[in-house]
Amino acid sequence: MEEWIEQLRNPVNTLERLAEFINVTAEEKKAIETLNTKWGTSPYFASLMDRDDPKCPIRRQVLPSLQETVNKYGIENYLIWKENRDTEEVRPDSIARQYHDRVAFTVTDVCVNYCRHCFRNELVVNRDLKLRMDVDEGLEWIREHKEIRDVLVTGGDPFVLSDQKIDYIIKKLREIPHLQMIRFGTRSPIVLPHRITPGLKKILSPYHKIPIWVNTQCNHPNEITEKTAQAVFDLLTCGINVGNQAVLLKGINDDPETFRELHQKLLRVRIRPYYLFYCEPAPGIDHFRTTVEKGAELIRDSIRGHTTGLAQPMYVIATNIGKIPLMPDYYIKGKNEKEYTLVNYKGETTKWPNMPE
Ligand SMILES: *Cc1c(COP(=O)(O)O)cnc(C)c1O
Repeated sequence: MEEWIEQLRNPVNTLERLAEFINVTAEEKKAIETLNTKWGTSPYFASLMDRDDPKCPIRRQVLPSLQETVNKYGIENYLIWKENRDTEEVRPDSIARQYHDRVAFTVTDVCVNYCRHCFRNELVVNRDLKLRMDVDEGLEWIREHKEIRDVLVTGGDPFVLSDQKIDYIIKKLREIPHLQMIRFGTRSPIVLPHRITPGLKKILSPYHKIPIWVNTQCNHPNEITEKTAQAVFDLLTCGINVGNQAVLLKGINDDPETFRELHQKLLRVRIRPYYLFYCEPAPGIDHFRTTVEKGAELIRDSIRGHTTGLAQPMYVIATNIGKIPLMPDYYIKGKNEKEYTLVNYKGETTKWPNMPE
């Protein structure tokens, strides 16, 4: 049996299994025993957890917490609002739409790791929201909507699907004449790098004029291993660019040192930072959320100018009306008819001529 399938068939999702990897605290035990929530991860990702530190950034993304019962600032029925599911336009459940030319296409609600900070937790983790994930129905809708040029295949994690199913989705999408690109959102390079098998590579690799892009999610430098580096390299050899969509998480990556190390380490394994997301107000994840300004401050204080521009993600809030960039805005200190006063990352200023229209 392929190792990725073995990993999926033996998830770490019971207290007994968990105790093989970490010293479970009384609080973690209570959360696991009392919360009615789906949790669990691959043995591989579990092995990256710190055995003794309950604040371990990986542990906190894997294990349920009693703090999930607190919901002071989260929005009830969040996904219905966020994904514009309560609108006139008739769409299959699998299609989430915020833009004219692109959609998110949910093909599964299964994940490798049930991230505690998931913004789709009503669907994927706590599972109160039931959606019909019918792939053919979604494909049909995309075929009928000629304005869609870009499909973002998501979940759940689409790479938990079999090679055959992934092959089918790609083939069917590439038959749609108005499609120009396919994207997969998958955490597999981070939580199950074994998934990038020779079989999957064969499906992904032949040259085709409709490119495939992959965006993964890595939130802390400890999540990056040699196995991830190899998986990303393998994807690149198939002609697939790999980007990262990090989530800003309180106590996990919201300090300048960790934040810079994360983005530098991503580049070292050939992953290009794409987005930094503000942690969304889904119910029960208040404890992961920082102030809105925090992401821009981190980019200002630890990325821009401090390290290569390639390491810089775009900081966005993903709202019901699309993603809204919130980048740091200190650069233009002043402006008159003659010139701009610009400031760099060290606080030094320079002058730049102002050219009239
Ligand atoms: C994030 C998202 C997209 C893709 O946005 P990009 O900025 O193109 O990466 C498309 N549709 C929905 C519903 C999304 O949430």
